[in-house]
Amino acid sequence: MQTESDSKVLEDRKKSIIFKYEDGCTGKGIRCEVDSVSGAVSQRACVYCGARVVLNPITDAFHIVHGPIGCASYTWDIRGSLSSGEDLYRNSFSTDLREKDIIFGGERKLEAALEELINKYKPKLIFVYATCIVGVIGDDIDAVCKKFSDKYQIHVIPVKSPGFSGNKSTGYRMACNAIMQVLNTYKEQPKQKGINILGDYNLAGEMWIIKNYMKQIGIPVISTFTGDSNLESMKKASSASLNVVQCAGSSTYLANQMKDAMGIPYIKVSFFGLEDTTASLIHIAEALGDEKLREKAIIYCEKKQKELESTIEQYRKKLYGKKAAIYVGGGFKAISLIRQFNTLGIHTVVVGTQTGKKEDYEIIESIVEKDTVILDDANPSELETFMKERVVDILVGGVKERPLAYKMGIAFCDHNHERKHPLAGFEGVINFMKEINDSVNNPVWNYIRQ
Ligand code: SF4
Repeated sequence: MQTESDSKVLEDRKKSIIFKYEDGCTGKGIRCEVDSVSGAVSQRACVYCGARVVLNPITDAFHIVHGPIGCASYTWDIRGSLSSGEDLYRNSFSTDLREKDIIFGGERKLEAALEELINKYKPKLIFVYATCIVGVIGDDIDAVCKKFSDKYQIHVIPVKSPGFSGNKSTGYRMACNAIMQVLNTYKEQPKQKGINILGDYNLAGEMWIIKNYMKQIGIPVISTFTGDSNLESMKKASSASLNVVQCAGSSTYLANQMKDAMGIPYIKVSFFGLEDTTASLIHIAEALGDEKLREKAIIYCEKKQKELESTIEQYRKKLYGKKAAIYVGGGFKAISLIRQFNTLGIHTVVVGTQTGKKEDYEIIESIVEKDTVILDDANPSELETFMKERVVDILVGGVKERPLAYKMGIAFCDHNHERKHPLAGFEGVINFMKEINDSVNNPVWNYIRQ
């Protein structure tokens, strides 16, 4: 018998969706890390957007979007990243390419934009993004960037990110390459004990929360990528003895490059949820090979866990037995969210990511309950179908998933770039439980469902 989900899923998409029927991981695998299926209306952003989200939080960087104005507006002030210094990074500068530029080439317009920006603001670091149309007409942005780097002795870095050149993960790699272009200039710093934090974007000040934990435990933070970073802090990055990678999807590539070029080993961590925050802090101290730090980390985490115990129990009583769907950017975040829901007695019945890797999906499959739907690179129609089938109470996602949840009359929690309150660390555990409870147990859903 054909079910509703059979008829709603495109044939080409079926290998990117699996159902957990057995205990543990079936090992059958899911198709992932591939370009989106044409016509499937992917929830993923484009290559340029992937690059921009990684580079945007560098607080003293300037971003010139070489392309039509629409690309710039698409990613203007896209993150809730906070800054302790400059805030010009929140602006977009665009060459605003028009028909004439497409016919005769846009390099001159890019040169004029760079000249104006450099003379007006005296920047030290500029990223120039090539968007779709620039990829098509073939403007030589490498040559233009080099010309201005040499002329003004500043970093003018090309980011080749036409939307059609891959998927959002390609954009992450382009951003990491751009960061490496800067770091390679300063890669011979003497090593010191301390860490770089990669893949945290200081959304709602989360980087400051994590840095505070490091301070309490006694772990020096040398540089951050890219939340609340700047050129001066980036220059010191090569001196770190360890890289810790929070958003594995966007930053593992950078960690690998830094390992090869600067000999910095890395570990993957997650600061979402009590379990993962605790494990990550202890893991960092262990990876630094310092027994005293490890003991301090354990004592610190035990104290924090004790402080949270009764609050978790209160929320657990209110949320026990609810059903959740998760659709987020990367696999590591999805895994942390499933664990957070498990702690609260909430069943994750639908879970998907935009850029998850095979190994992420294997972990996901082994920690969710039977009958859970697991999707890679889903579209709204699939999410709607499976959320309806599984009678979900809440969807955790980003700005593009919010209208879908509300139209379906189910609760929503924003766990993406735009949010204004921290969900990382021990503080984040409380905020997350509160938001889930406020949303799921809001009386409005009873009226809507009636
Ligand atoms: S897909 Fe192309 S045109 Fe659209 S925002 Fe991305 S770079 Fe710009």
